[in-house]
Formats: sequence, C-alpha cells, structure tokens
Amino acid sequence: MATDRSYIEIAIALPVHQTFTYGVPEHLLPLVSEGKRVLVPFGQHRVTGYILGTSENQTRKEIKHILDVLDEEPLFPSPMIPFFKWISDYYIHPIGEVIKAALPGGINLYDAVSLAITQQGERMMNEKTLSPVENQILALLKSGRCMAKNLCKKLDRDIPKSLLHTLEVKGLISSRRELKGRATKSCKEEYVSFIRSDIPMDRFFARRKNILDVIESEVEISLKNLKNRVTGSIGLIKYLKKEAYINIFEKEVYRDPFGEPIKSDHAPFLTTDQTRVTSTLVSSLGQGFHTFLLAGVTGSGKTEVYMQAAAEAMNQGYSVLVLVPEIALISQMERRFRARFGECVAVLHSRLSAGERYDQWIRILQKKAPIVIGARSAIFAPLEHIGFIIVDEEHDTSYKQESKFRYNARDLAVVRGKFEHGQVVLGSATPSVQSYYNVKEKKFIELNLKKRVNKQPLPEITVVDLRKNRDKRGSQRFITKPLYEAMKETLDRGEQVLLFLNRRGFAGFPICAECGEALKCKNCDISLTLHRKANAYKCHFCGYSRPSVSSCTICGSTKITLLGLGTEKIEAAVKSLFPSARVDRMDHDTTTRKGSILRILKRLRNQDIDILIGTQMIAKGHDFPNITLVGIVCADLSLNFPDFRAGERTFQLLSQVAGRAGRGTAPGKVIMQTYNPDHFSIRSAKDQDFKTFYNKEITDRKTLYYPPFSRLIQLKISGKDKEKTRLFSEEIGHLCATLRKTEKSFAKSVEVLGPIEAPIFRIAKHYRWQILLKGLNVRTLHRYVRRLLFENTLQSRNRDVRLGIDVDPFFML
Ligand code: ADP
Ligand code: ZN
Ligand code: ZN
Repeated sequence: MATDRSYIEIAIALPVHQTFTYGVPEHLLPLVSEGKRVLVPFGQHRVTGYILGTSENQTRKEIKHILDVLDEEPLFPSPMIPFFKWISDYYIHPIGEVIKAALPGGINLYDAVSLAITQQGERMMNEKTLSPVENQILALLKSGRCMAKNLCKKLDRDIPKSLLHTLEVKGLISSRRELKGRATKSCKEEYVSFIRSDIPMDRFFARRKNILDVIESEVEISLKNLKNRVTGSIGLIKYLKKEAYINIFEKEVYRDPFGEPIKSDHAPFLTTDQTRVTSTLVSSLGQGFHTFLLAGVTGSGKTEVYMQAAAEAMNQGYSVLVLVPEIALISQMERRFRARFGECVAVLHSRLSAGERYDQWIRILQKKAPIVIGARSAIFAPLEHIGFIIVDEEHDTSYKQESKFRYNARDLAVVRGKFEHGQVVLGSATPSVQSYYNVKEKKFIELNLKKRVNKQPLPEITVVDLRKNRDKRGSQRFITKPLYEAMKETLDRGEQVLLFLNRRGFAGFPICAECGEALKCKNCDISLTLHRKANAYKCHFCGYSRPSVSSCTICGSTKITLLGLGTEKIEAAVKSLFPSARVDRMDHDTTTRKGSILRILKRLRNQDIDILIGTQMIAKGHDFPNITLVGIVCADLSLNFPDFRAGERTFQLLSQVAGRAGRGTAPGKVIMQTYNPDHFSIRSAKDQDFKTFYNKEITDRKTLYYPPFSRLIQLKISGKDKEKTRLFSEEIGHLCATLRKTEKSFAKSVEVLGPIEAPIFRIAKHYRWQILLKGLNVRTLHRYVRRLLFENTLQSRNRDVRLGIDVDPFFML
C-alpha cells in the first residue's frame, strides 16, 4: 500500500456498487493494510468494510473516519483485489458482496482473539502513565485470560481494537487467536515406535514377545491398533514407555472419504502421452499466462498428470489450485493428492463446518498449504503466486453459481490465471463447446490423452430403440429385452450394474384420468412427481408435497394415472425382475442426509450392491472397477429442454455415464435406450465422437446466433405478486427499448428478447419473468446493462420484486 494511508478505499459489505473513501485516525494508521476488515459509519449504521488500498479520490471534504480495524492479519492477499474488482465489474455485482461471498463464512477474528496480561503488564499495573481504562483492562486480565469480544461486555464499555493494539505493542498484554467450534478433518493419533527393542523377557513373556513382534513388523503402529492387536497390553505399554523402551508420539493421519487412513503413494512413471502433456504444462511455468484444454477420455490418466505437474510447480515455489465440480469427487481427488502430498493440501467446500473452513483458509493464507482442492467457491482461495489452476470436468454445470451472486468458476479460473500470470488447465473427457471453440480460435491450447492408461478398451455401446417397445406392458416397456439380458449376464458373472435415469421419483407426470389435467405444484408451474416411499406427490423445485390420495383440483376425480417414469419406479421394477439381487438407489431423495452419498459409494465399492440406480449423480468421475454394465434407461430426458445447450448437455451426460463402465480389467458394456436413436447428440455419444458432435453443434449455434457467437445477459425478474411482477417486467422492457432507441450504438449491437414469462413461470411461490439481452460484444452489453440499472430510477423497484442479473446464463428455464 502506498505511503499515504490516511485516506483509504473501502468496499462495504452491502448491495452498493461503488467503493468509498474513508479517513484513518492517527492511532489506527499502523493497523491499516489491504485485505483487513474495518468498522465504518455508513448512514445511520456501523458496517463492515474491506480495505482495498489508498484512496485516489481527491475530494477530501466531508470524509468520515473509520472506527476500528477488525483484523490483525489480512484475510486475503492484496493481489486478489484487482481480481475482485474485475468480478464486480463483469458480473455487475456489488464489490463488497463479492468479497463477502469469497471469504469463508462465519469468520470473526475479532471475536476469536483471547487476551492475557504479561509479566510486564502486572508490574506496570496502576502506574500513573496508564489511563483508567487501560488499568481496568489490566485488572480484568489479571484475574484470567479473556476473549476480546467479552472484554467490552465485562467492562461494560466500548474498547476500540486500537487500544488493545497499543497495550500489546507496549508489551503489557498478549493476544492469541483462539479457533473455537472446529473439528478439523485431519486428526492426530498416537503412534508407537521403538527406542530400543531389548525388552526384558523376564515376566509376561508371551505378551512382551507379542508386542515386540508387532512393533518390529510395523516399525510405527498406532496405539489404538497396538492395543487391539495385543490384548491386555495397556499396562505393559505404560511400563515400556516409562522405562524408555518405546516412544509414543502424535502423528497426523489423513482419512479417505470412507474413513480409512490414506496410505502414502509414489508417483508412477508416466506413459509417453502423459509425459508429453506434463512437460508441455511444466515448461510453460513462468512463461506468462496460458490456458490449456486437456481432452482425455475417462481413465486416460489426467489426474496423474495434474499431480505430477503440481509437484513440479511446488518444487519451483508455485502454489496450485484444483477445482472439482462436486463434493463426492472432491473427496476422491483429495484422497489421491493427500496420498502423494500429505499435509500440504488444503480443502475448501461447503460441507466443511464454518470452523473447518476458516482453519483451512488460515492455513492457505499462512502458506502452509500450497495445494488447494475445492468446489467452485475455492476459486477465491487466498493463494499467491499460483502456478497452475486446474479445473477438472470443466464442462460441468455445477461450476456455475445460480443464486444471488451468479458467477462461473470455470471462467473465473481463466481470469484469475491471467491476473496471476499462471497456467490454467481445463480438463475433461467431454469438453464444453465453449472451451473447444476457444481452442479453434487459438485462445486455448489443446492437449490430448487419447488412450486409457491400462489399455482398457472403451466400453462397447449398443443403442436400443424404445419406439419398438411402445406396445409392451409393465416393466418390459422400459427394461427392454437386450437390457434385461445384459443385466442378467452381468449379475451371473458376479459383476455390478449401473442404471441411469435422469428423473427421480416414481413416475414423471400424474394426470387426472377423467379430465386429463396434470397434478401441479401449488407454488410452482411444475408437474408433481409421485414418491412411493414418502407416499406423496412432490415438487422437485420447492419441495411442496401432497398426500398420494389427492384428487384432481379441476374435476375432483380421484382417478389419477401416472405417465412416464422415475428412478423409484425403475427400482421397484428391477427388484421384482431380479429378486435376489441387492439393489440400491442414489438420487436427491436418498442422499439428503450428510454422508449418505459416501455410504452408498462405499457399499458399491465393497460390492455390497449389485445394481445401483441413479440420476446424474452417478454419472460423474467415480471409478468402480467391477461395474461392467451401464444401462441408460432413457437417454432423451434432457434433450427436449427449451435451452440452447440441451444437445450439449445430453451428449456430455451420456458420454460420462457410459464412461463408468469397464474401469477395471473386465471390458465394459453400455446399453443406451432412446426414442431418438437418430439425434446427433445421441449418435455421437454412442460413437464417443466429440469432434462430430462439436461440428454439428457449432454450426447450429452459428445459424441461431447463440454463444459462443454471441454473448448473453439475462435479467431475471421475480416476485410473489403476479401483477406487480408483470408490471415491473414491462417497465424494464420499456426502458430496454427506449435505451436502444436513444443510443444508435445500442440499436445495432444489442438485441432485446422479452420480457417474457419464464418457461417455468412460477417457482416457490414466485412469479418469474425474463429478458434476454444478446450482443456480439460483451463490453457493449455491459455498458447497456449499467446504463439501464444505474441511470434509471426504476419506479416500481421495491422489496416486492427482485431483479437479478445473470451474465453468461446457464439455467434459462
Ligand atoms: P483420469 O483422471 O483421466 O480419469 P486417472 O489419472 O484417474 O485418469 O488414471 C486412471 C487410472 O490409471 C488410475 O487408477 C491411476 O492411478 C492409473 N494411472 C494413471 N497414470 C498411470 C501411470 N503412468 N502408471 C500407472 N498407472 C497410472
Ligand atoms: Zn413447487
Ligand atoms: Zn380432473
């Protein structure tokens, strides 16, 4: 930070788009630095702000002063500030809220500092040089350690942080960070090893010999394990310790997601292909920013490439960030990185408790963990000097955050890489159309891993035309003969089957048999789905549920028939077709409880499940060698979504699911059932031919002028009051049109589609409207939206109607 720190730029953690200049009182000057939080007066309130730097604002009139500095150490490194500013600008989201979202929730260092009096403090107590407050503080601390936040309460007055800082600088008190309420995942365990092994064998010979043998064979063994293996050894261990035969020490143990200790491993020799890719990556370190698209079929050794590239980057003093789309996969990635790198790995994701996340954050800040693995929000990890940012399964839509602060972590990886002059590696077996287009445009560099490491062939895929089955009755309609037979053969061989269907519940659409009316959610514009287990119809968007004995809301008839199918129905059918098989289901309904995904995966790995039925949850990354058959019950479900990426998603999903088959030594087989065997997404998934898919898809996008040939910003308007929401949407629509008319540059370059009712008009009691802005140039689009938002006083803009801005939207329903 520049030398004149008396005026600083602050981002306020409130929905305001600009930053503010505040003055710094003399006594707080030494505490001020970028990345710390401050307490500032704002209107009638005191709010938290973040120090971004010295202020360049020249007008010094009516400037308010900060009240306090809240952190001892910065919460993020200063090179992240331009990154935050870029994000705020690009996603048109208030900067203070961007930073707040980036930081781990629940941090409050101020609260977590505990204070104690020093010896010098005790000597100095009651000296004239100290103020009455200072003496009060010392007196309180003399009676015992105290948390800083409780100090104010106990003394019943405001104690500015700066005062405590002064006392600490004078050496009268000391402070310590206390981290409460945390249960770190990596835990310590007691281990035993020999100091000398000449244990006297005079008494309890058998037991002593036993202990000797066990420790000798294991070199180091956990105390718990030793006690288990040698019964009645507790007293003896105590004795051996006392006589200095054995050493008991603490050791950090890492556990895999299944709760088992992770054994460390060694890097294997890379294949020729992997060597080529890894050396390209490594040799680009320090050569400026690049983005690589690593296309490699599942099992081609991408993760091994990530790890060896990361090792080299760390050797050269760089840090490494690895993004993984979801929790179950993080555990898998974490396990492999921990086995290789041990404690230099930190993880960040939403399933950690606030305390755990805070802990990880601090370890990263303190440079104790140069490797960070995490879900999308880990893109904000406070790393410095980043060598690689790796985005695994880069095509995955869960990198896009859909609520409030809408960002795409995959895209931000490229932005952050650029700021850091680092290397960005986007890896996938099925790259996104967007990324592959960037390769063609020479923005990204393509790298390929074409073969599976252990030379397993890719699974053989058979397409079964469901239209030929239309007249079949019962379960034969969706478990066709070829699928049934393949399942039977697989089970007979003692191997496992995965059945995939992208819809949960029992059946797709309950409709009234008398009048044909669909049973819909009362909050959303969506058909309900029958859930047998819960004995109810449920809404998949808001969770609304109605008892299964419901009658038609239009004609009152109780004759409800079910159209379509869901995972629960498949489960029932499979259980009756294969009564002796162990069948389980993995979807949103069976995995709401913490740890349930891992429990199912663990049973699958231990081969306690013969047939697993699931939604897209089972499609991703998992590696189970005994699964040799994958059945795709109906490949078409994602095809008919009113969304320009529907074809792309279908292709990716089907290829990913198919990739689950045959990961071990036995060859894999896939049966893909579909009503559209000729659709190009399905045909290219069958042939596992990304290039053909891409060529057709990119031509369609160009014709329809969709991304990557245009850029989109969607305005999402929603409110509980139907009429108010409509009026507000129309008002914005009107402003959009006026803005295009008044400025010529917009008329040509910005297309306004809407306002229209969203395809799903109502979700969770909110009526939804949308306006789609389409343009060639993203800067023009941004300028347009900013003019729209900031230069208009939107009349009916009030608490009743929300306006969300979605730059590069994904979910357009
Ligand atoms: P991907 O990430 O592309 O799916 P992985 O890196 O998981 O591929 O590799 C697939 C399997 O092959 C893993 O079990 C991995 O341990 C193993 N493997 C990868 N590279 C090598 C290698 N060079 N030598 C031996 N085994 C390897
Ligand atoms: Zn609903
Ligand atoms: Zn009816």
